[in-house]
Amino acid sequence: MPELPEVETIRQGLLPLVVGRTVVEASVSPEAPRLVAWPPRADDLCRGLAGQRIEGVGRRGKYLLFALADGRTWVVHLRMTGVLVYRPQGCGGGRFLRASFRLDNGASLCFADLRKMGRMWLVDDPAQVVGKLGPEPLSEGFTAADLGRLLARRSAPVKAVLLDQGAIAGIGNIYADEALFEARVHPRRPASSLSGEEVRRLHKAVGLTLVRAMGDRGSSFDHYVDARGEKGSHHLNVKVFRRTDEACFECGSLIQRIKVAGRSTHFCPQCQV
Ligand SMILES: [Zn+2]
Repeated sequence: MPELPEVETIRQGLLPLVVGRTVVEASVSPEAPRLVAWPPRADDLCRGLAGQRIEGVGRRGKYLLFALADGRTWVVHLRMTGVLVYRPQGCGGGRFLRASFRLDNGASLCFADLRKMGRMWLVDDPAQVVGKLGPEPLSEGFTAADLGRLLARRSAPVKAVLLDQGAIAGIGNIYADEALFEARVHPRRPASSLSGEEVRRLHKAVGLTLVRAMGDRGSSFDHYVDARGEKGSHHLNVKVFRRTDEACFECGSLIQRIKVAGRSTHFCPQCQV
């Protein structure tokens, strides 16, 4: 699933391409009946977008937020396999094309989604969709002390808290594993058991991990591509994620895979305590 670094890479790619452009026509495939989460009918979202100029592209957690001229916000969540690509010549066909948004320069935003779990909303206030998300981990306002406070009140495994979008927004399975390795913290440790020093290490590790991934334009383990359809390269530079039975770069021990919070979790049994 695209996480903060991937969604931010898409956002930055879309900015120069779509801001100032007007959506001429929007269509949603009848084969994607659950794509539009709000308004209730997909046709209403299409009608609402038609004729609207895109004034900005924002991001909150893993959500893209398109600010429209009428003050409303078009919210897109790619979920597992969704991709949103700008195509200068239009979307064409494609087996997994679920929605297309033609722009006034002849280009289109094309939404393809193999597993049909992606969601879109057209809302007056984006808080209707993203209002319950936790803080942005890369914002200056999110300090180690803030992380310490939210871990201190949770007995769940620290990885589960990192994945909880209501606690911190934007971290998913890849970057939770990578950040915990970077911080040398075992993913199963109860969140409240981390020492002050470990919290500081984890806070720094979360930032480093996300920034490095953005430097590589995201990780393309599966379906992820950026706004122009190009893969990222960070999957070539991960330390533990999907490296089961490969040697740890730090100590040579074999990376192990376990389940934490129902998710496949990769860690070094020597480095992470
Ligand atoms: Zn190791």
